[in-house]
Amino acid sequence: MNTSVALNRISPSQTTAMTDRATELRAEGRDIISLSVGEPDFATPPHVIAAAKAALDAGDTKYTAVGGTARLKAAAALHFARDLGLDVPVAQVTVSAGGKQAIFHALLATLNPGDEVLIPSPWWVSYPEIVRFAGAEVVALPTDAAGGFRITAAQLVAAITPKTRWLLLNSPGNPTGATYPAEELRALGEVLRAHPQVLVMSDDIYAPLRYGAGAHATLAAECPDLADRVLTVSGVSKSHAMTGFRIGVAAGPIWLIKAMEKLQSHSSGNPSSISQAAAVAAFEGPQDFLNDWCERFRARRDLVVSTINTIPGLSTPVPDGAFYCMVDATPLMARFCATPDKNWDEALVLHLLDHGVAVVAASAFGGHSGFRISFAADEAKLSEAMQRIARAVS
Ligand code: GLU
Repeated sequence: MNTSVALNRISPSQTTAMTDRATELRAEGRDIISLSVGEPDFATPPHVIAAAKAALDAGDTKYTAVGGTARLKAAAALHFARDLGLDVPVAQVTVSAGGKQAIFHALLATLNPGDEVLIPSPWWVSYPEIVRFAGAEVVALPTDAAGGFRITAAQLVAAITPKTRWLLLNSPGNPTGATYPAEELRALGEVLRAHPQVLVMSDDIYAPLRYGAGAHATLAAECPDLADRVLTVSGVSKSHAMTGFRIGVAAGPIWLIKAMEKLQSHSSGNPSSISQAAAVAAFEGPQDFLNDWCERFRARRDLVVSTINTIPGLSTPVPDGAFYCMVDATPLMARFCATPDKNWDEALVLHLLDHGVAVVAASAFGGHSGFRISFAADEAKLSEAMQRIARAVS
């Protein structure tokens, strides 16, 4: 039996594949430290767990509205206002099974064959695959460590064509931690004003996890006149250690929210009712634990960055947000491939796996010559992993 043409255009998610591989190896008795998946190792806050249990006890086990309960939409609107500086009416908010589903539905609901989607690279693995699944073209906007892994307004001007349908922004970004300051977003907004056909996806899922000074900046708040073509995506997975609950939220123009909910009505239907109740508690409850989490992530980041930069052949800049480091291993290339090959880092990553550390190749993210480390693991594991990496490449 053949799979569809659309499915054949895409590859499995390499972040989840590597994490599954690490789990399998562990089950076989191998000692593997997994720094492959982007998932906080902290426990979900107790008030969130209590809300999930209370929802079960109250019998909240039935269908809800496809795009989420009125209560959760209101709580998400509170989150958008408080944490992202975005005032959105509840009617312009929708809830999905993870931020990934919101992105999937938004792109599938709007893209046609031949449309172009601009994606700064390195990118999160699922962005280009969803675009290809929808039948549209991926246009990479390459960034590098020297430029803070951020695109410039000049780069955007040069990339937009009459076929451009979306620009995908992710700040703080996965896999680089790149975080756009307000003035750079305003400069991008100035370019976008001249191209009214371009929609913008602003994936702000990592907004609460920032290590620099100043408030989080997001395009729809910096350029309110563009808000009617910006979809801002957020959630509770990263900020509240709720990855397994699968709740994402999105705010955008009503026509797009309705289009996403139309598609969702035929895909998953409503997100889990229990998870929705837990997400209400996450958004409405205390947020102060995040200060502690950010401090702990910052210490882990500093440990990883300082150690990696002492290992010959490896280097990494300091990420401003999220919990990933993009490690450059270009000096090691000749040891892993006889002739230059843009995916040579897959061999490097398998070599690291042989030495007991699971990370994801940079090429999986549209990058090259390196790997992504998720530092959402405790210091002891990170220290041991750094030693293993040093031994593996020495
Ligand atoms: N977003 C996380 C990551 O990049 C979770 C896995 C995924 O969905 O890609 O590791």
